Amino acid sequence: MVLIWGSAMAPAQTILPDPVEGVENEMGTQEGLEAWISDFRPRALAAGIPAATFDAAMRGVEFNARVVERDRNQNEFTKTVWDYLDTAVSEDRVALGIKAVKKHRALLERIEAEYGVEKEIVAAVWGLESAYGTYRGDLPVLGSLATLAYEGRRGAFFEAELIAALRIVDGGHVESFTGSWAGASGHTQFMPSSWEKFAVDFDGDGKRNLWGEDPADALASTANYLRHWGWTTGQPWGLEVRLPEGFDYDQTTERVVKPVADWQALGVRTAAGGDLPDHGPGSILLPGGHRGAAFLIFPNFQVIEKYNTADAYIIGIGHLADRIRGGPPIASGWPRELRALTLDERRELQDRLGRAGFDPGGVDGRMGPKTIAAVKAFQKARGLVPDGYPSLEVLTLLR
Ligand code: CA
Repeated sequence: MVLIWGSAMAPAQTILPDPVEGVENEMGTQEGLEAWISDFRPRALAAGIPAATFDAAMRGVEFNARVVERDRNQNEFTKTVWDYLDTAVSEDRVALGIKAVKKHRALLERIEAEYGVEKEIVAAVWGLESAYGTYRGDLPVLGSLATLAYEGRRGAFFEAELIAALRIVDGGHVESFTGSWAGASGHTQFMPSSWEKFAVDFDGDGKRNLWGEDPADALASTANYLRHWGWTTGQPWGLEVRLPEGFDYDQTTERVVKPVADWQALGVRTAAGGDLPDHGPGSILLPGGHRGAAFLIFPNFQVIEKYNTADAYIIGIGHLADRIRGGPPIASGWPRELRALTLDERRELQDRLGRAGFDPGGVDGRMGPKTIAAVKAFQKARGLVPDGYPSLEVLTLLR
């Protein structure tokens, strides 16, 4: 879960399941939550939670309407990638990241040696998830998870996380179990099930402690998580590139993967105009359409995706790490006069694309590969640059 202030993202290390249709019931109440907890108790006990632990931990758990609001609205406030990056990779966050790496250099270098994940990447996750430990979240984790499990749209998912959280409590691993709205907690905002699978005791005190002031365990756990998902040491997440005039925009999708030599032969160059460094096969991504920056992305991009699936988040982590390492800001401008489509507009776009004969793969408001391909096909049919960017212009032309 990302504490980019004002943004709304899914929790870390999770791909949230789709909400169950038709469970958009009323908001819920404290009484309703208490009834749900009584109902849940035998399931938790059957899963191995001792009754005494359950009763002590769940006593006083409160329904939190704000958590439900957050969950229901998280798709509403999509930012453009440039608005997101302005905050995620602000000059302040870069400067604090440089300071953090300096201060924790020995720790981060030991983590890098052990897990093969570069210190700037680990620092960038820390920087985005909790502003380097400053904002770790103060909502009771059990309350958030119980509220979301009871509220029901993703009940099974959050109930499983709640049981994992109760196991953490039962094991005496955490003293003050607070986090952000979806139950992620600690310096790098782990979900309870991720703690169980990936947390490590890096400082050797016998505890896998992601929550204390000392970030050692949390940062090593993050590196362990990224290594588990296939991090390649020394490979960039991506790099900004320049596309030649007349570039074929059918190539700008994660679905097209080519060796660097092929991109080079097609005229793709670094942002500075130089030859492309060879880090293996990659794809070209245009997160802001043809008038914004282009990136050549490598498999480490898909590893960061395991923390959070939003392209803006992945670019945010990667670019923040590059900046902490001393790299330059993104060279290209962005089409800043464009605004992000609202959820209703994104659904309308998909609906209208479908009616016009361009299959968007569903009307869910998600701008996935099928929708982008449909936008490209529509743009081609209308003689526009087929970059697949779901702009208001495209929607207006469909109306
Ligand atoms: Ca420890």
